[in-house]
Amino acid sequence: MKPEYTSISNLTPQTKAYKVRARVIEKAEPKLYPNKTLYQWLKLEDGEGNRIRGTLFENEVESFKGILELSREYEIANAPLRAVNEKWKTREDDCQMTFGGNTTIQPLQAEAGPVLPKYIPIASIPSTISKSERFDVIGVILYMEQVRQVKTASGASIDVREVVITDDRSRDKKSYISDLMAKVLLIREPSVDRIITTIGELELKKLTDTMQEERIWLEAKIPEPDVRKIIAYIGCDNCGRRCEELAGETFKCSSYPNKVCTATARVNYTFTITDGTGELKLTAFGAECEKLFA
Ligand SMILES: [Zn+2]
Repeated sequence: MKPEYTSISNLTPQTKAYKVRARVIEKAEPKLYPNKTLYQWLKLEDGEGNRIRGTLFENEVESFKGILELSREYEIANAPLRAVNEKWKTREDDCQMTFGGNTTIQPLQAEAGPVLPKYIPIASIPSTISKSERFDVIGVILYMEQVRQVKTASGASIDVREVVITDDRSRDKKSYISDLMAKVLLIREPSVDRIITTIGELELKKLTDTMQEERIWLEAKIPEPDVRKIIAYIGCDNCGRRCEELAGETFKCSSYPNKVCTATARVNYTFTITDGTGELKLTAFGAECEKLFA
């Protein structure tokens, strides 16, 4: 007999006896509420794409570890439903799932047999950060760094290797990928010769062919240096952000929660450069800038 499943969109805080067929699409790391209650939230999705959030509390976090796994589909019956806080409601009678009481959970995929990869586009990987989450992707490796060692906060050394992959499918693959590959190589292993770019060339660049780590060399003049654009202020000695403290006072800065920062005199300077092909307004800040005015 085919079981009758309820659509997640029909669940309400009053629904008691029901059965849904749903997949765990997100599972966050367990966390503590300010009152020290342990909780872990997850998101379930049924075949029609309706979603519901569920929360495991205290012992449930451990006991449901192997029962509700990411990416697996389950038949869930009679899990208690609670109303969703007014602020987060996405529909009338919106509810969330808890897992106590008479909840029954049955996995729908066969336990035995090889786990087949479920390939997804890189762009659809959810932004939940959890070490337990795994995703299968097929892509082209654009860059693979040599293994290097980094020190953790506790002093242990771990091997790290940066790998850049792409899976862009919509564009003309071959030229797109070789372009990207050349760009990544240029940034990661810059040649010893400085390649000078012009402001005119820079203006033709689009957001899509720029990378955050790119370093660009320009040969330009500051035609009208203006001393009024030199700004001195009191800021964090680590990140340079402005702060309310007086010079010399220590404080906690949001950019470096683990460091004690000191309010220090800082300088930044805004100026316009030209190289005959265009103009560019730049701001110099940080230690390199301060050296100029010391
Ligand atoms: Zn700071």
